[in-house]
Amino acid sequence: MSSRTSRTSRVAEHGEERRVAVVSGGSRGLGLGLIAHLLDEGYHVATFSRTESEGLTKLRASLADPDRLHWSQLDGAGDQAGAAADFVRDIVRRRGRVDLLVNNAGIGLEGLLSTTPPTALDRALQVNLNLPVHLTRACLKPMLARGGGCVVNISSINAVRGQQGVAVYSAAKAGLDGLTRSLAKEVGPAGIRVVGLAPGYFDSEMTAGMPEDTRRRLTRRTPLGRLGTVDDVVDVFAFLISDRARFITGQTITVDGGYTC
Ligand code: NAP
Repeated sequence: MSSRTSRTSRVAEHGEERRVAVVSGGSRGLGLGLIAHLLDEGYHVATFSRTESEGLTKLRASLADPDRLHWSQLDGAGDQAGAAADFVRDIVRRRGRVDLLVNNAGIGLEGLLSTTPPTALDRALQVNLNLPVHLTRACLKPMLARGGGCVVNISSINAVRGQQGVAVYSAAKAGLDGLTRSLAKEVGPAGIRVVGLAPGYFDSEMTAGMPEDTRRRLTRRTPLGRLGTVDDVVDVFAFLISDRARFITGQTITVDGGYTC
């Protein structure tokens, strides 16, 4: 079958052919910024979080076709394997494909390992590492079937830089970097790229409670003299998912104003 014929039949099967992105944790912060960019780029976006937000509602209201933004309520700290598979299956049933997965949902966890309750440790590992693994596994199926796709793992500079009080968060993000490297080798031959994006500290709800003296210290240690913004990270994301980054896979790109250099 020629590529023209196969494209025509896919359009007939799924209606207007639009790229489909799955983004975990899209209700606010970086996730919301990534979704706004993907909608600007013409994607259909499917996201989930525990709570819907005013930001998502406003974004949907701004669309000529509100169906381009789908939200489900899902707690990624529960039965991740089943929940992730069900969510992706539902999206594939509605849209027929998944072109891009962004493993963005994450929770911070601060405290000494020796005194943090085991339930809090488990929850951080579930949301920050287990959920991305299961979500990726579920999205690979439609990507492999189409012979292409891209996975973006939102990591952190804590994956590569030790810091007291964030041992388990760091471990989970380092695990995510390992997933990026090894999976890139596994699925590269099938036309699927796997990349990571490791922001330094940027303004969001996750960092809103940061004490002022910590903020000043981080700013002082950042060569470019400020904390990051969602836009700083979204701009690099835009490059990584574009055709200009077509020969990049298995790498995690740091966006931290020079903090870790
Ligand atoms: P945020 O503002 O706290 O947003 C986190 C998102 O994840 C929200 O949509 C949240 O929605 C969702 N989420 C959290 N727990 C969830 C759960 N159990 N199930 C489903 N969804 C869940 O965080 P952010 O600062 O934008 O962070 C985004 C990513 O960047 C995270 O992976 C984070 O680790 C990483 N990062 C952040 C910074 C920073 O300085 N902010 C630095 C480096 C890396 P609900 O609460 O409604 O569930």
